[in-house]
Amino acid sequence: MFCVECGSEPDELFDGLCSECFKKRKLNIDIDERIEIEICPVCGSVKRKSNWIERPDMEAIMLKKIDESISVPYEVEKFSFNVEFHEEDPYNIIADISVELRSGDMVTEKYISSKIVFKKTQCTICSRIHGDYYEAILQVRPSSKELTEEQKNLIVEKVKKRIEIKKDEKRSVFLTAQEEMHGGLDFYLSDSGVTKNLAYEISRAVGGSVKSSAKLAGREDGQNIYRMTYSVRIPAYELNDFIEIDNEIFRVKKLKDSGGKVVLKVVKSGERRLMDYKRLENAEVLGGDELIQRSVIVSESKDEIKVLDPESYDTVTLLKPEDFETEGDEVPVIKVMGYLYIIEDEG
Ligand SMILES: [Zn+2]
Ligand SMILES: [Zn+2]
Repeated sequence: MFCVECGSEPDELFDGLCSECFKKRKLNIDIDERIEIEICPVCGSVKRKSNWIERPDMEAIMLKKIDESISVPYEVEKFSFNVEFHEEDPYNIIADISVELRSGDMVTEKYISSKIVFKKTQCTICSRIHGDYYEAILQVRPSSKELTEEQKNLIVEKVKKRIEIKKDEKRSVFLTAQEEMHGGLDFYLSDSGVTKNLAYEISRAVGGSVKSSAKLAGREDGQNIYRMTYSVRIPAYELNDFIEIDNEIFRVKKLKDSGGKVVLKVVKSGERRLMDYKRLENAEVLGGDELIQRSVIVSESKDEIKVLDPESYDTVTLLKPEDFETEGDEVPVIKVMGYLYIIEDEG
């Protein structure tokens, strides 16, 4: 029994070789000459497979890359390595690697080296921030006329604040553009979920209903990409306004935080009623507090009250609204479509 390589006569042969020749010939290792790592020059994120890692642990990433770049023949059952890094410059690093290779009881050490090259590539988020990327549009639209400056300021404030908060959690949340459109506002945002939440937040704060629609924006990795639009329709009426719908006069008593409905008071009876924003889209806005006039009381009974019409000075008999009590010798009224209505409260 002798080694086919060196001719020595050991007690045991491995593939026809003595252990020394086996270590030299068979326990080999190879590594790519050049290992490339993509790094974003803007934020320092590093690409791993198809993902970008923010605030990466550089050394861990380099070690992982080295591990992946090593190839060993099947005779090697196990290996481990140590690396010394020598920086040529921040983007070019030499890795000197000592590797311990094992096959059964045999252990040997080999030395290899590779060059790690950092390649500058803008990461997905940075290229989106610097491009005009958006995932969804938030539209805020008035039902008629224009949004008031007060409403606009409130809405812009809410959008900015929400993005400021979200940005701390997720760098991918940002506002791409904002513009005035059809008397309302449009916001282009990078995150569809944030846009949706904002739409509901604004409808709660200002009143109004939310509608959503999706538009096919293309395909990515074999999947359809949709761009969402969340549209908030701000009603034309404001708190305490008088509105008319189906020949009935209402006063708006609550617009916000009322479960997606508007709380109204029937002017004639004083009864409270809830109505959907949708149903109220065609309501006619009669006006606000400026409609209220004062009528002199002529006489009063349990259910009825006689007053002077403030315009014609005719005596008019009106039914008292629920739980209504007079104070002094006048009552607040409004005159709408030729009829007089008693107003229970003035604010
Ligand atoms: Zn030998
Ligand atoms: Zn980046």
